[in-house]
Parts: sequence; structure tokens; C-alpha cells
Amino acid sequence: MVPVFFTILLVVFIISLISFVGIFTLSMRQEQIRRILFYIVSFAAGSLLGAAFLDLLPEALETGGRESVFALLLIGILTSFVIEKFLFHYHCHHHGKQHKDHYHIKPVGFLNLIGDGVHNFIDGIVVAGSFFAGPHVGISTSIAIIAHEIPQEISDFGVLLHAGFTRARALLFNFLTACMAIVGAIIGFIFSTTIESFTTYLVAFAAGNFVYIAASDLIPELHHETDMRKSFLQFVMLVIGILVILAIKIYVPEQ
Ligand SMILES: [Zn+2]
Ligand SMILES: [Zn+2]
Repeated sequence: MVPVFFTILLVVFIISLISFVGIFTLSMRQEQIRRILFYIVSFAAGSLLGAAFLDLLPEALETGGRESVFALLLIGILTSFVIEKFLFHYHCHHHGKQHKDHYHIKPVGFLNLIGDGVHNFIDGIVVAGSFFAGPHVGISTSIAIIAHEIPQEISDFGVLLHAGFTRARALLFNFLTACMAIVGAIIGFIFSTTIESFTTYLVAFAAGNFVYIAASDLIPELHHETDMRKSFLQFVMLVIGILVILAIKIYVPEQ
């Protein structure tokens, strides 16, 4: 049990550190940021869908009842909708511009922090629960979460700057909300070890989360690209995201 706990802590700590990625975008040109995000967002969408359909759902169905598993999948989708609709409110992925001339913190900044905190908290619970479902589920889930957190944190940092936070405060607050993943992981660990079937249903719920993020946040971003060659590259990256998850499922042992 102890090694599992430390693996989970290590993963959520890495996820929390991703919140600092925004600082690197300040020294980059808008075009460079767009090019990097182009690949990461495609890969993230593929890995989220791959993890949901190839790993999480089959895993949940092995131990859980079919009706409950699909109901939780649905609840996972709805929860993501509610968090995004009522807490995130303002969403902007390709944000890299600096806004130095704002002196007031706009409410959108605080909303972002709350939404981000709740989202990261759930990510933390999901990471913890997934490692209890098996090493390959844990690794796939971690890859899918790390991949989508990179564009997410770049966006968070941009939103906070836009809302009037100084760079230092934007970094600090974004990091603090990212640390909610650690809090979530500890709670997820406690639940996984004390409540029977918690892991099964958490994994189904996580699948709903992943499908929502991929299909309603990331893939619509990809549609801004209309160039045929680049669109094909997006598809390739998306498939690579799925293949990585498939490789983990095949090569990482069940227990
Ligand atoms: Zn996330
Ligand atoms: Zn964040």
C-alpha cells in the first residue's frame, strides 16, 4: 500500500508543477505557442479518449454493474459540464498575451481559480483511484491528465494575467489551485482503501470526465485549424495519443 501511496503523490506533485508552464510562454512568440499547443491538444484529446474507452470503462465493467457504470459515465459528463458552465465561465485556450495595464482583479480571475481548484481536486481523486484499479489504469490516467493539464495551465495563467494578477501572483495562485490535486489524491486514497467498489465507480466517473474534456474542450479547439495538411497532422497526433494508451494497456502488467 505504501508504494502505491508514494506513486500517487509523485504523480499529483508532477501535475501540480505543470501550473508553472505558463511562465515559459511569456518569452515565446504567439506563433510558437500556437504550434506547440497544436500538437499537445491533439495528443491530449487522443489520450483522454483512449484512456476512457480502452482502459477506464472496460476496467469499471469488470467489477461493476453495467447500469451503474454507464450511469456514472453520464454523471461524469454532467459534472464536467456544470463545473465548466458555472465555475469556469470564461474559457480561453490560446492565451499567451501579456496584460500589464490592469490594476483591478476582475471577477473572472477568482472564478477561474475556483473552477480550476475544483477541477484539479477531481483530477487528484481520479489519479488516486486509478492506481487502485491497476498499474496500467493508473499510468494511462496520469498520461491523459498530464497531457490535458499542459494547455489548461497555460490558459489558466493567461486568464489570471488578463484578470489583473501580476505574473508572480498569477503563478502562485495557479500553483495553489493546482495543489488541490494533492488534496484530492489524499482523499481519493482514503476512500479507495476504505470504501469497497469506490474505485470501480470512480473510474467510470473519470471516463465521463475524460470524454467531456476531449470532445467539448479540446476537439473544438482543433477545429479552428482548416488547413488540410495540418488537420491531417492533428489526426495523426490524436491517433498517437490513443496508441500510447493502447501500448500501456498491452505492456504494463495487470497487477
Ligand atoms: Zn485536469
Ligand atoms: Zn490552473
